Amino acid sequence: MQLRVVTVMRHKGILIVVSGFSGAGKGTLMKELLRTYDNYALSISMTTRSPRQGETDGVEYFFSTRENFEKKIAEDGLIEYAEYCGNYYGTPRAYVEQQLNCGKDVILEIEIQGALKVKKKFPDALLLFVMPPSAHELKRRLIGRGTETAEVIDRRLQRAAEESEGIEAYDYLVINDDLQKCTEEIHGIVRTARNAAARNTEFIEQIRRELRELWKGEE
Ligand code: 5GP
Repeated sequence: MQLRVVTVMRHKGILIVVSGFSGAGKGTLMKELLRTYDNYALSISMTTRSPRQGETDGVEYFFSTRENFEKKIAEDGLIEYAEYCGNYYGTPRAYVEQQLNCGKDVILEIEIQGALKVKKKFPDALLLFVMPPSAHELKRRLIGRGTETAEVIDRRLQRAAEESEGIEAYDYLVINDDLQKCTEEIHGIVRTARNAAARNTEFIEQIRRELRELWKGEE
């Protein structure tokens, strides 16, 4: 009997949530990941915070008024949103869905409340938490960035202490001590995650169907 070999590829990408304390270096890491590998798409969030020096609308964020942001919430145009240090931050739905359907692995660089909402809505999402090598190093990086006042740095450190309570909800930790090493580590985790049985149920079902057909055919 002639056997027909059918190869099933994963069509949908993985939704990857990357969180980490402010100053942990997530932004630099994500840039490096996108520069090095071509299977990723980075979602651009909407926020009501003011642009920092050097930030451009539509590149780092879509900067928005509170009114416009609330309109987007009402239209169900955001996958998730949260308030962080007095400002709204949210993930526009359209781009994420379109990129996932094209097979891209989509990265959401978001804080912990948003991450937990994503996990609830999309149990398949992969949650990564970027850790600094130490709390002292985190403070040093926040000060070194030179973009925030002492008061804002203080609020962000306080927020980091609060966020540290929820890290166990994430799937993996990555310690950002070396940019290259950490980028490869994240890519490795995503590659492994793609092969998880739970993320390949359609393929498993297809093999089952083929096996049943073959087995009946041999009778
Ligand atoms: P920053 O003001 O430093 O750019 O961002 C502050 C925090 O908001 C960071 O932890 C960042 O990951 C998070 N953030 C950025 N975009 C979003 C988003 O769309 N949703 C949520 N929930 N958090 C976001």
